[in-house]
Amino acid sequence: MAKNDVSTLRIAPKIWRDGELIDWNDARIHVMTHALHYGSSVFEGIRCYPTKRGPAIFRLREHIQRLLNSAKIYRMEVNYTCEDLCQASVQVVKESGLEQCYIRPIMFRGLDEEKPTFGVNPFPNPIQCFIAAWDWGKYLGDEAVENGVDVCISSWTRITSNSLPAMAKAAANYMNSQLIKMEAIVNGFAEGIALDERGYVSEGSGENLFVVKDGEIYTPPLGSSILPGITRDSVIKIAKELGITVHETSIQRAALYVADEVFFTGTAAEITPIRSIDRIKIGLGKRGEITKKLQEVFFEIVHGKRPAPNNEKWLTYVNETHAQTANL
Ligand code: PMP
Repeated sequence: MAKNDVSTLRIAPKIWRDGELIDWNDARIHVMTHALHYGSSVFEGIRCYPTKRGPAIFRLREHIQRLLNSAKIYRMEVNYTCEDLCQASVQVVKESGLEQCYIRPIMFRGLDEEKPTFGVNPFPNPIQCFIAAWDWGKYLGDEAVENGVDVCISSWTRITSNSLPAMAKAAANYMNSQLIKMEAIVNGFAEGIALDERGYVSEGSGENLFVVKDGEIYTPPLGSSILPGITRDSVIKIAKELGITVHETSIQRAALYVADEVFFTGTAAEITPIRSIDRIKIGLGKRGEITKKLQEVFFEIVHGKRPAPNNEKWLTYVNETHAQTANL
């Protein structure tokens, strides 16, 4: 890639690398990096929204805690606390001057350039951590949040919890996601929904899934092969606050076709209605009323216009948070 003039790309010009801020163009790694060959990387995706009090990061602590959980599952020894990485994320956003952005912390097995090793055994490879940010628009297209998307059921099965644990947000999982996504795209769909190894609904390539039927909400349980989505958790809490019953339960493929509403949730996708699955119209073939209500409340909360359910602290106001500027 040619050197970028990052000022024109709505990219945070500084990337956090193991305690220091470096230039975007200097954030490079060696081709023999373990993660590149063997997938040994864990990461997060976090959104920061504009509010009256300046940029606010949505559920930062929960995302960083999930990152640390993903690292723990893969026996990565991390030198940073949750607090350190929250502060580092705030620092990247603050430095960027961006009002809204998507934050990408990533932790991976690197390469010990003095004593390189090239095998699968990850232990000799040092852990490296970076945090980048950029302004990312609507993930499934500008109109998706209002009009909904056309999706398919994937012919690929979701990874199983006893092979690649879906509860870790590991790069390797996204090879499965890429198979699902590519198949959907070449067949003219915006996204694919994977079934789990039992044939029940799991999730999209990068989103959790919800079904609305007769005024109640259904979503696959955490025990199934899904990422424990933070937007999923937020939507469940919002729905409960609105008095809507939520069932976390196995869902059959056919139940999707006869649902009143189906929608995706995710940091990138936010709350995106699904208007058709396998060319079968869902409900009225457009965003349903419950999806719309959940979106309204969700967007009010992320923009700081309404408190989170139970007054939980979901926003980290960047300009009001003291972040260390020196090395951690
Ligand atoms: N499932 C997968 C496979 C994902 O990649 C994502 C996006 N992180 C989600 C679900 C949604 O998770 P979250 O709401 O925490 O972004």
